[in-house]
Amino acid sequence: MDTRLPEFPRLEISGYIPELDLLNNPIFTTKEKEFLTEFYEYMEEILEKDLKALEELNYLAEEPIQERKKEIVANFMKKLAEKGYYSTVIDFEEYEVGNVTRNALIALALCGGFWSKNSGRYINGNWSIEMGRLAGGTLYCNPVNYKANEFQRKKFLIPVVKNGLMAASAMTEFKSGSDIVRIELELDDKNDTVIANGKKLFITNGVLANYIILYGRLNSGRLGGIIVDTEHQQLKNYESSRVRTYGMNDAFVSRLVFNNVEIPKENLLEGDGLDIMFHQLTEERLVISAEAIGDSIKKMFFSHSFALQREQFKHKLHQYQIIRFPIAQNIRQINLFLSALINYTREIDSHPQSASSKIMASHGMGLKIQTSELALQSSTDLFRTMGGRAFTEQYSNQIALLDAFCMIHGGGSHYVLGDAESRRLFKTT
Ligand SMILES: Cc1cc2nc3c(=O)[nH]c(=O)nc-3n(C[C@H](O)[C@H](O)[C@H](O)COP(=O)(O)OP(=O)(O)OC[C@H]3O[C@@H](n4cnc5c(N)ncnc54)[C@H](O)[C@@H]3O)c2cc1C
Repeated sequence: MDTRLPEFPRLEISGYIPELDLLNNPIFTTKEKEFLTEFYEYMEEILEKDLKALEELNYLAEEPIQERKKEIVANFMKKLAEKGYYSTVIDFEEYEVGNVTRNALIALALCGGFWSKNSGRYINGNWSIEMGRLAGGTLYCNPVNYKANEFQRKKFLIPVVKNGLMAASAMTEFKSGSDIVRIELELDDKNDTVIANGKKLFITNGVLANYIILYGRLNSGRLGGIIVDTEHQQLKNYESSRVRTYGMNDAFVSRLVFNNVEIPKENLLEGDGLDIMFHQLTEERLVISAEAIGDSIKKMFFSHSFALQREQFKHKLHQYQIIRFPIAQNIRQINLFLSALINYTREIDSHPQSASSKIMASHGMGLKIQTSELALQSSTDLFRTMGGRAFTEQYSNQIALLDAFCMIHGGGSHYVLGDAESRRLFKTT
């Protein structure tokens, strides 16, 4: 059953906004704009139909949509991988834009969408599908790339990067959320196998993943990371189920249970689990910042168009300052954050060692907080601007109003990050 009401037409984006056009932004170099232009063309020609199909499925009630969504999402990652848009962790020499900057540009475009000058319309972004790309392409690929030996690279990294296999990173548990050192999942190290026992929660792509980087506690008491081949989710003694969330409709955030799962010891990554987890953190934070800026751009397109189209008390909404001001303020913030983001990613691309610097990690953390709070604010402002319509799934689905709420916790909760950031400032020893 389609739940849409005929009184509520689809909200069409009617206006090009030069301040939100990345190709019009003087901060980006010619090479970066060329990269974005190619991505936009691919998004409009190849990816947009999948994004629309996912949205359409959200309007159906009383019909099983999960299997159909799973297929679309898995194929979407393959399409991204075909063009090197899934993971940017290898093949640097083929590109003139650095790998961290490319990762951020893809996230910006996939979440923010863009105004297509070719067809004179807005191509809608989708933060939840970008979350799947981030989980597989970055949270899985980056640590594997960091620590994998030749055998592991060939078997578990290259097929993911090149063929877009679904992958996930499993850190969070019921007790170990923000406090990651409380991980309890056991990795019992036998002769040729490691036996995994425990549960993971909130794992993006969990039910879809071919490969999972699983963090747990080794016999020595130290944390370790091991790659699990889920054998297309049929692995013996392993169970996965989707967590019902109120946003991030296409991210397949999942719960995983490992009940005496046997994993070949050759899948164990060398080194300390905490070091492996933290290694990719700065890039993750910057890509989430790009996602949040992209999502804010998308929310601005919808707020702006609605304010142009809707009339109340004999005036269009945009004629009221109370409607106009938040939009102008958010656009101003978007552009300030964009310039910070692009400077950080370029810095890491030209000096990769800076990704391991504590101060860069702290800057990344600060940007992640501020940009995700901006995305939340932009959603709240759009919610206010749209009146009762914002309360319906019909519009909420179209604009993914709730995605930004999830990311106050995704990629590290803001209170924890903010607390750590402020503690650093007052460190005396
Ligand atoms: C959309 C989404 C996708 C996710 N994907 C993944 C994934 O792919 N893999 C994965 O492993 N995890 C994933 N997570 C889990 C996410 O990283 C955790 O939700 C996060 O670490 C917070 O843990 P928690 O939910 O247990 O909250 P808690 O740790 O219980 O925190 C509860 C509250 O207390 C605050 N708090 C906790 N400690 C402190 C402190 N020291 N100082 C100040 N405040 C504090 C927190 O900020 C929060 O507001 C995802 C989460 C979301 C929302």
